[in-house]
Amino acid sequence: MKKTLLLAFALAVPALAAAQPAADQAALLRDQAMRGDTLAWELVEGLTTEVGPRQAGTEAEARAREWAVRRLTALGFSNVHVEPFEMPVWMRGIERAEIVAPFPQPLVLTALGNSAATPASGLEAEVIGFQSVDELRAAPDAAVRGKIVFINHAMAPTQDGSGYGQFGAPRRQGPTLASRKGAAAIVVRSIGTDYHRNGHTGVQSFGEGARPIPAAALTVPDAEQLQRILNRAGERPVRMRLTLTPRNIGRRQSGNVVAEVPGTDPAAGVIIVGGHLDSWDLGTGAIDNAAGVAITTAAAHRIMQAGRPRRTIRVVLFGAEEVGGGGGPTHFRLNNPAGNVVMVGESDFGADRVWRVDFNFAQGNAALADRIAALLAPLGIVRGQNPAGAGADLSQWVRAGTAAIDLNQDGTRYFDYHHTPDDTLDKVDPAQLRQNVAAWTAVLAVLANAPGRIEGITPAPRPAR
Ligand code: ZN
Ligand code: ZN
Repeated sequence: MKKTLLLAFALAVPALAAAQPAADQAALLRDQAMRGDTLAWELVEGLTTEVGPRQAGTEAEARAREWAVRRLTALGFSNVHVEPFEMPVWMRGIERAEIVAPFPQPLVLTALGNSAATPASGLEAEVIGFQSVDELRAAPDAAVRGKIVFINHAMAPTQDGSGYGQFGAPRRQGPTLASRKGAAAIVVRSIGTDYHRNGHTGVQSFGEGARPIPAAALTVPDAEQLQRILNRAGERPVRMRLTLTPRNIGRRQSGNVVAEVPGTDPAAGVIIVGGHLDSWDLGTGAIDNAAGVAITTAAAHRIMQAGRPRRTIRVVLFGAEEVGGGGGPTHFRLNNPAGNVVMVGESDFGADRVWRVDFNFAQGNAALADRIAALLAPLGIVRGQNPAGAGADLSQWVRAGTAAIDLNQDGTRYFDYHHTPDDTLDKVDPAQLRQNVAAWTAVLAVLANAPGRIEGITPAPRPAR
């Protein structure tokens, strides 16, 4: 294996190869990716152009799987296959809102996943406004019954995306809470940080015993407009007409696409990396998550081209992440019994640069984590103190004690585009995309070839992304 690797380097960088000890092979691969990776861009461009939006369970997601199988096979990956599963599918319909009184005017919004439909002619009701989920929770049912609940809040951009947990609550919990209190419908301020008139969609699920009600996200400018209207209306009721016509079309097929770089030592275990293949329907899912698919695929491909690694690297492109994560649990259920997965990591936070690395390695692997952190430092990546949780699709492995790495990306502008029609290719910066590939390449080069065992710790649970 080392011979093959050195030969690959000798061909690529003849002046350096002879003098490089094995420890520097990962640095070489990292630098080659940083300078010249084009595969990740080709994959993001290809998936967003040839397939476009690919909502889980639709024929578009099926085309994305075919595209991925074709590309991964052509790139030389082994064991390329689909892990199919079934899931319920919800489809967006007409979405319209207007203030009827006291200041009649249209508002722009978009339905949240699993929203119920209004009558085709819409429903009209009084709006009652809250500044947070907690405020709604504290309100007497009688104040909410029959009304359209509005939850406003003020999410601000952060580098680590931490606002998503807190400000995501109106979307995740608001609809169930409003339904239990007898609301006619709910509109929330988009979980977003931009001032474009784009609603940010996203999944929500009605909890046990909560009757589905119409649920939508106002764009940030429209949410602020509605708040001003409520403030000025004084004692006059603010009435809204809301028309949403989504429908549940029943169970359809989704699936994960799996590909491998086979290792030389089956006893050394398997490393899983990946992203999710599905996207929301509004944009072409360039940052969420063609980028993650492309970054991890390109990094694994670089390791494959450098020669056979010790451990098998498995790339999993998950299905149905956006609508509730059917792909992650399916892969875990099918593959966990083999007991051979030693490390997991997902890229699912856009295409901007990695700025921090977190680990959840066992104490015995401290030196391995140090080595990876040192290799990432020249890319401008600092070492964090949080236990790695991997992405939503791989969190079950981490909870089961598998080692994980988080390469945290800069999220400052992520929620300007997330789950909107603006999630398109032009938002991807090729230079930052290459930095991601370089970081994952360094991680895989070390972990796939590290001697000994890789073991994780079981971290405390953290909020889902
Ligand atoms: Zn995502
Ligand atoms: Zn998403």
